[in-house]
Amino acid sequence: MKVLVINAGSSSLKYQLIDMETEKAIAKGGCERIGLDKSLLTHKANGKVIEIQKDMPDHTTAIKLVLDALINEEYGAIKSMDEIDAVGHRVVHSAEDFKSSVVITDEVIKTCIANTELAPLHQPANVTGITACKEVMPNTPMVAVFDTAFHSTMPEKAYVYGIPYDMYTKYKIRRYGFHGTSHRYVSDEAAKYLGKDKKDLKIVTLHLGNGSSITAVDGGKSVDTSMSFTPLGGVPMGTRAGDLDPAISEFMAKKLGVSLEEVGTILNKQSGVKGISGVSSDFRGLSAASKQGNHRAELALQIFAYSCKKYIGAYACAMGGLDCIVFTAGIGENDAAMRERIFSDLEFLGVEVDREQNKVRVDGVNEISTKDSKVKVLVIPTNEELVIARDTAELVG
Ligand code: AMP
Repeated sequence: MKVLVINAGSSSLKYQLIDMETEKAIAKGGCERIGLDKSLLTHKANGKVIEIQKDMPDHTTAIKLVLDALINEEYGAIKSMDEIDAVGHRVVHSAEDFKSSVVITDEVIKTCIANTELAPLHQPANVTGITACKEVMPNTPMVAVFDTAFHSTMPEKAYVYGIPYDMYTKYKIRRYGFHGTSHRYVSDEAAKYLGKDKKDLKIVTLHLGNGSSITAVDGGKSVDTSMSFTPLGGVPMGTRAGDLDPAISEFMAKKLGVSLEEVGTILNKQSGVKGISGVSSDFRGLSAASKQGNHRAELALQIFAYSCKKYIGAYACAMGGLDCIVFTAGIGENDAAMRERIFSDLEFLGVEVDREQNKVRVDGVNEISTKDSKVKVLVIPTNEELVIARDTAELVG
């Protein structure tokens, strides 16, 4: 079975064609600048990388180009479109309507559209990806895999805020959490690696990338997570502020003489480690600047690590124990120095890390805790596309 995984953004579209027998991508790529000038398709298959510059006024044109590339005799991966058995779409928000992945019907699309106000930047693009695919491949079954769904198991005490209760019942204001496919994947992989039933494990998963979130996974289920009503909450990120006293927004609006919407833009785009350091949202740039003595770059790194450390402690308490910590995503997988800042001084929790092994790069799972460490510490490359493909294959298979 072959599954095409689609992750549609407002002006971009990433794809992977996954062969479910091997669970490997046989082609992958992306379209950039859809609806803008100089649209570009980058396609990788059979060891070749092809760039095609062609007008893509909309997502439907982009999907058609992707399919043309996939079946191209010279650089394609399949002979005809019929070889694509199903399409799995990444959709950011399930609200409380879906607790797991679903086969896409007209009703599902309507519900996704109705939830747009909960994710105004991403949900419309995800829906456009679905409708464009439906137009081009009307007979191919499709599945929606939601970023929020893994967190639907959180108990009420973790997702209801301390504001009037009817804000929740009337306006759906609650903690949802994001990066669910990644937290699900790495926590499952951790259980497999440790040879344990996930029901018996208390894991804290740290998805640390441009956007970062931390999740408490107890018995295979998300019981709390740092991102919140939107992906702005939690630890400070590349450009997003993370947790703040809610009074700060109004105070900033008054001081700057701008609207709350404009404050929202500052908190999303000019904050986080970029805002603190004034240097970069990229951790490579930050550590280089810190090594050269830039105080604010060093401070940004310290604040990030400190915030991650606090979540590990909070979630160990929330779960009443801790068996495993997992690092994943761009920073979690690649930035050994940041990992060291985060896991240092956690010996009192039973965390003992081999600092040399932490610096080693391995294919697959890297166990960086010592043999005797009570808490296992693992670095696991995330694979959200594979989760989407697996769910899709299971639901349509
Ligand atoms: P992601 O959103 O998961 O793709 O992660 C992207 C972020 O990972 C970048 O913004 C960088 O801050 C970080 N990153 C990627 N590679 C490295 C690396 N080798 N060292 C430090 N940070 C890295």
